[in-house]
Amino acid sequence: MAKKKPTAANPCPCGSGLSYQACCQPCHQGQAATTPEALMRSRYTAFVLQLDDYLLASWHPSTRPPELDLKNSPKWARLEVVSSHAEGDRGQVHFRAYYRSSQGMQMMEEESDFIRENGQWFYHQGQTPA
Ligand SMILES: [Zn+2]
Repeated sequence: MAKKKPTAANPCPCGSGLSYQACCQPCHQGQAATTPEALMRSRYTAFVLQLDDYLLASWHPSTRPPELDLKNSPKWARLEVVSSHAEGDRGQVHFRAYYRSSQGMQMMEEESDFIRENGQWFYHQGQTPA
């Protein structure tokens, strides 16, 4: 089934309450994310919109996979940012992402680490909270 891309004025898929053009679209168009949370949100939205180029570009080179295949990725339904903080060039975002499967609504939870280099935030790695 073809995905419906949000138009710029529609609510952003990341659930911020802002329009796509006021939220994640500028990142997708090359503007640097100002905080780890903004980058994390733009990456969630990129998963929804299947923007694999953006996901790879915002992935730190030390942990970036050679390629991404989003064809079989889940149907993301909702993002919930539990907490986020940044200190210097390191940041962390704790989030829950919900998706629909044949068993109903599922949830994945992650604490993601972010690194800033040359003024740009990158996703580094994530772990499931204990
Ligand atoms: Zn957004």
